[in-house]
Amino acid sequence: MAEQEVNKYTEISKLGEFGLIKHLTEKIELLQPSSLKGVGDDAAIISPPAQDEVILFSTDMMAEGIHFELTYTPLRHLGYKAVAVNVSDICAMNGEPTQVLVSIAVSNQYSVESLEELYKGIRYACKEYKVDLVGGDTTSSKSGLVINVTILGKAKKEKVVYRSGAKAGDLLCVSGDLGAAYAGLLLLEKAKDAFGKEQAQKAELQGAGYILKRQLMPEARVDMVELFKSSDIVPTSMIDISDGLASEIHHICEASKVGCLLEELKVPINEETIKLANEKNTPPSLFALSGGEDYELLFTLNPADLKKIKDLTKLTVIGEILPAADEIKIAARDGKMHPLTIQGWDGLKVK
Ligand code: ADP
Ligand code: MG
Repeated sequence: MAEQEVNKYTEISKLGEFGLIKHLTEKIELLQPSSLKGVGDDAAIISPPAQDEVILFSTDMMAEGIHFELTYTPLRHLGYKAVAVNVSDICAMNGEPTQVLVSIAVSNQYSVESLEELYKGIRYACKEYKVDLVGGDTTSSKSGLVINVTILGKAKKEKVVYRSGAKAGDLLCVSGDLGAAYAGLLLLEKAKDAFGKEQAQKAELQGAGYILKRQLMPEARVDMVELFKSSDIVPTSMIDISDGLASEIHHICEASKVGCLLEELKVPINEETIKLANEKNTPPSLFALSGGEDYELLFTLNPADLKKIKDLTKLTVIGEILPAADEIKIAARDGKMHPLTIQGWDGLKVK
């Protein structure tokens, strides 16, 4: 985009609510056969799923100053992330995303151009995940920006995966690597402090492309859902990691009424994450256990299903499900067993 265009500032009031909606939604393409009517009427129209399918339905809201800071979040990335985190919830049910509704509350300090950026990110994510933007709502806010995405998805009824299906003896597995999004956030906050000191800011961000991307533009693991399908397996339980590994393990164990043994040294962590944790004198596994927003999938497998998986590089076995009486434990790097708390474990505290 030309420099001049980026700096353009058109007040929202110039277009009005209807003009703004029209402007932001006119480039939308509908790709799902089930999207019968998108933006433009009082309600969107979706055809019902096949007889053996169910509809999955979820929503997630992000508020300025709470979930994101505009000082270091480009609006295009924010739009992408708002869609991706919703897609992640559908993936966590072993489903396929189909449609989204996007609602925004926006203060008059925003320009039409900045909302265009937000919608570029939204449209980009919709294209990547093959979901259709079929409607939403637009309202003004006294301060800041709030963005709410509601998502629809589908799954074969017998393939839906709940948090509650883990059984003693199952393997505890995770996709990708953990802690990177939190490392990215720390880095962005550090760079924000160097704001205005351009050289210092550049130095902070150099060589950290991976963790920055993991914070600003997380990917929903639709590829894992495809992998389960092509490998002809169904995990026994699953959840997406939005809060941190320790908290999500507790969710699965509570819903499934089981215990668990997590092996700290098996938790996959990227080099850039390790580097940043070392700089902060923090054990990298603390980032994985208690940092959030990785949007990887945590799932359990019947051990017999592991060898059926067609691409084992996409997951790591990090522990085992135990009977409830064994509780939720971590085999820590000190060689000892500790209770796994939501914060991690006692020995992990930053000194
Ligand atoms: P109503 O007054 O009936 O709620 P609106 O004027 O709010 O209608 O919306 C008109 C159309 O534009 C509807 O199809 C609605 O889903 C869509 N829409 C409104 N706001 C947004 C938005 N922020 N993003 C996408 N679609 C939107
Ligand atoms: Mg409306």
